[in-house]
Amino acid sequence: MNTLPPMNSNDNAGAATTLPTGPDWNWCNRFQALGAEYHTELHPQPMPAPHWIARSTSCAELLGLPADWQTNPRWNALAVFSGNALWPGMQPLASVYSGHQFGVWAGQLGDGRAHWLGEIDTPNGPMELQLKGAGTTPYSRTGDGRAVLRSSIREFLCSEAMHGLGIPTTRALCITGSSLPVRRESMETAAVVTRVAPSFIRFGHFEHFTQNDQPDALKRLADFVIEHHYPECRNTPQPYVAMLGTVARRTAELLAQWQAVGFCHGVMNTDNMSILGLTLDYGPFGFLDGYNPAHICNHTDHKGRYAFGRQPSVAFWNLHALAQSLMPLIGNGNAALDAIELYKPFYADAMRSQLRNKCGFTTTQPGDAGLIDWLLKQMAYERTDHTILFRRLSQFSTADGADNACVMGLFKDRKFSDLWATAYGDRLKAEGSVDAQRAAAMNRVNPSVVLRNHLAEGAIRQAQAGDFSEVQRLLKVLQHPYDEVHDASADAGFPPEWAQHIEVSCSS
Ligand code: AMP
Ligand code: MG
Repeated sequence: MNTLPPMNSNDNAGAATTLPTGPDWNWCNRFQALGAEYHTELHPQPMPAPHWIARSTSCAELLGLPADWQTNPRWNALAVFSGNALWPGMQPLASVYSGHQFGVWAGQLGDGRAHWLGEIDTPNGPMELQLKGAGTTPYSRTGDGRAVLRSSIREFLCSEAMHGLGIPTTRALCITGSSLPVRRESMETAAVVTRVAPSFIRFGHFEHFTQNDQPDALKRLADFVIEHHYPECRNTPQPYVAMLGTVARRTAELLAQWQAVGFCHGVMNTDNMSILGLTLDYGPFGFLDGYNPAHICNHTDHKGRYAFGRQPSVAFWNLHALAQSLMPLIGNGNAALDAIELYKPFYADAMRSQLRNKCGFTTTQPGDAGLIDWLLKQMAYERTDHTILFRRLSQFSTADGADNACVMGLFKDRKFSDLWATAYGDRLKAEGSVDAQRAAAMNRVNPSVVLRNHLAEGAIRQAQAGDFSEVQRLLKVLQHPYDEVHDASADAGFPPEWAQHIEVSCSS
C-alpha cells in the first residue's frame, strides 16, 4: 500500500491567514494584554470549504456591524468565522483554566476548542469574540478541538433564545459548517459557532491559579475583573470580598431566571460558571416540558447532580469553590463565607419575585408562598407542562362563575383544580387585580415558546440534510418568546410523544 490513510480531523494543515481589511472596529484586546500566564497565542485551524449555516442579526447589531457584514467581499466574514482567516486587529489565543467537574477536582482544563479572537469597542460596551470548534489548542487534552453541527445549532439557538427571554448569556453571532468529518458516537460534520460576551472568564480561571500556587497571577486576574467588570468594588474596604459578593448576587439572579423558565443547564461544573453571571457553555441543556424538579437533562449525569431542582444549590457549591480560590487574596475565611452566604437571600428574593410575576401578583401577601408551592407540587405530581401552564394562567378570569377550564383543565385532578382556582381567584381579587392588565403583564414574563429539545432536534435534522432554513426560522421565533404564539402551533404546543425519547449527552 503506497497511499496514506485519510487525514485525521485534528491534524489540520495550515493556520488562519490575516486578511487585508475587516470592519472598522477599535480592538482593545485587554485579556490578551493580561499576559502569557493566562493563555497561549495561536491561530484557529481552517475548515475545508466552509459555508454559512445561520446568522443572528440581533447579535450583529450588538456588535455594530452593518447589514451587509456577511456579504461584503472585502471582509470575507465566512472565512473569518470558520477559522480560515483573521481580520487585522485580531490576536487569537486559547485561555487556561481548571475546575471541578461533577464535584471532583479535575485539574487543568482550558479552552480546548475555543479560540478567543479579540475584544472590540461596541456601542454596547467592549465585547469579546470567540470561535468554538476551530481546532485543537494546548488545552485540548484528548479532544479533537472540533464541535459538531448538532451541538453548534443547539448552542447558537439557545444563546439567542436566552437573550430573547431576557436572561444573561453569552451571545452567538453565527454558525459556519463544513463537510469535515468529526467522530462522536457516530460520524458527524464540523461546525464553528462565534460567541460574543463582555468576558469569557470562568470560576475555573481563578481556581487554576490558586491550585497552581500562583498568587500573583491570581491577584492580577482578580484586579483585571474588578477594573473592567466590577469597578464599583474597587473603592470598597475589601475589593475581593466585594467582588465575590457581586458574583454571588449575579449568580443568584441568573439561577432564579433559569428556574423561572424551566432551563436546565446540564453541566454546572465550575469551569462552566461565568464570573459575570452569564449562562455559559451550552451542552446537554434542556427546557422542562412537564414540570419535574428531579428532571436530569444530561443523559450522562447518572446521579442527577445537575437535576433541575438542584441547580440553585449547585450554584452555591460552585460559589464556595470560587471563594476557596480567592482565599489567598481575601485571607479571612469568615469574610469570604459571609460574601457567598449572600447568595441564599438573594436567590430566595429573586425567585420569590419571579414566581410572583409569573402568577401575576403585584403585591406580596402572607399566603403567596403556600399557594404557589401548592401549584408547583401538583404540577410536579402530574408533570404539567411548565411553559404552557404559566402562559395559559394569564387567561385566568376572576369574573364570578368564570369558566377557567382552559388553564385548570391542564390538571387531571379536578378536586385540586377547583380548590386552587378558587384560592387563586380570591388572592387576585384581594389585590384588586384587573384581568386584562394582569394578562398583559404575565405575558411579558411567561414565554409562549422556549427551545424545547424537539424543536432543536427538528432544526438539526433538517440542517443535517442540508436545509438550514429551520434554524433561521426558529431563531426568529425564539428571539421574541413573549409574543403570542398559539399553543396549538408546533412551536408553542405540547411536545410530541417522540420528544420523551430524545437523549442529550455531553457529546458535542
Ligand atoms: P465541557 O464539558 O464542554 O464544558 O468541556 C470541558 C473541557 O473539555 C473544556 O476544557 C473544553 O474545552 C474541553 N473539550 C470539550 N470538548 C472538546 C473537544 N472536542 N476538543 C477539545 N477539547 C474539548
Ligand atoms: Mg465548558
